[in-house]
Amino acid sequence: MKAITLREGKERSLLRQHPWVFQGSIAKGGADSGETVRVQAQDGRFLAWAAFSPASQIRARAWSFDEAERIDAAFFARKVQQAVAFRARLAIDSDGIRLVHGEADGLPGLVVDRYGDLLSAQFLSAGVERWKDVIADALVAATGCPYLYERSDASVRQLEGLAPVTGWLRHPPNPAGGTDGGQDTPRRTTEVAIHENGWQLTLDVAEGHKTGYYLDQRDNRGLFARLVRQLGCKTVLNCYSYTGGFSVAALEGGATEVTSVDSSGPALARAQAHVVMNGYEASAHITLDADVNGSLRQFLKEGRRFDAIVLDPPKFAPSAAHADRASRAYKDINRLAFMLLNPGGLLLTFSCSGGINADLFHKIVAGAGMDAGVDGYLLRRLEATSDHPTTVNFPEGEYLKGLAIVRK
Ligand code: SAH
Repeated sequence: MKAITLREGKERSLLRQHPWVFQGSIAKGGADSGETVRVQAQDGRFLAWAAFSPASQIRARAWSFDEAERIDAAFFARKVQQAVAFRARLAIDSDGIRLVHGEADGLPGLVVDRYGDLLSAQFLSAGVERWKDVIADALVAATGCPYLYERSDASVRQLEGLAPVTGWLRHPPNPAGGTDGGQDTPRRTTEVAIHENGWQLTLDVAEGHKTGYYLDQRDNRGLFARLVRQLGCKTVLNCYSYTGGFSVAALEGGATEVTSVDSSGPALARAQAHVVMNGYEASAHITLDADVNGSLRQFLKEGRRFDAIVLDPPKFAPSAAHADRASRAYKDINRLAFMLLNPGGLLLTFSCSGGINADLFHKIVAGAGMDAGVDGYLLRRLEATSDHPTTVNFPEGEYLKGLAIVRK
């Protein structure tokens, strides 16, 4: 077994069971991409079993802090079962569920979402890349889902020195000869329907963003439907709408005119389909294929106002190093949203940037309100759904934060 030895004092975070070893903490030792190494303190004391990643700043990610543990197929089967069993206990009323959420589930770099009878996975670290086959078998065994699609095309794979990979990872064999006289039955389509908050939604695991959909906003979409109804919001602006989850929520809440803005045409087409599929008038929903920032300025120029606005932008700050520029970008869209909100109107504003914590986000939004000359009641602090857990030892895992505000 290969070992890496840390510099003096660099063992502290591992002793608190924080799973990352940074490049600068290592005194000596190395291994191949994804290979299991023994991480030890300068005096040789065992700290963790970890996956080595020669290209990454995060040079090793811990599998286990127990010296007696063996990192083998049985280990991954246990980890996957534990993650799946936790979700079962959450009793989530949807068939779109995050089953594995990376570090929080002891599987650094692995993301697995279940959509109906289909699994969609991202292998984003050298360690899970190396154990991919074993993990794929464990996922199928633990869930009974026979279809596993791989979406390892996120840009963070570059940091691990890994090329993008997409395609079926597990798919039951097609019956020989098929059912239509000689031809193979086609492979399962990558399109799938799920239900969420009582709505019908569709996605394509091959074409959609990330694994296909943003499950982390499930509860916030449900909350939005309730608040729109409670506050009597009629005109709603859903910025960065993707496939219109918050737009369907607004319609359920009694909104009569919902505008979805996104820069992805296919996402907007699906948003429109979702509106109709859920029984709402197509004419109650307007889609705008445009940049949100420009659209907000345009609305302001036109004197438009809304009863409710959702701001759910992509990650402006992938790490703390980008926090400054990202802060200005968040402040700007929030300032514009405050100005576009009718008095008494509802703002749901989010950041999914790991580099911006909840306190900083609150400060940014406060600054935006100040600049807009608008104050509001803070109804609620928002976070990701419980199937995207954070653990006690790994606060960096927390990424999605938001505020529900009612304008004074
Ligand atoms: N609220 C959505 C998820 C939003 S993800 C949901 O509940 O499912 C962020 C979205 O922002 C993506 O759909 C992406 O296409 C869009 N996007 C990114 N940059 C944009 C920009 N500058 N203007 C408009 N949309 C943008």
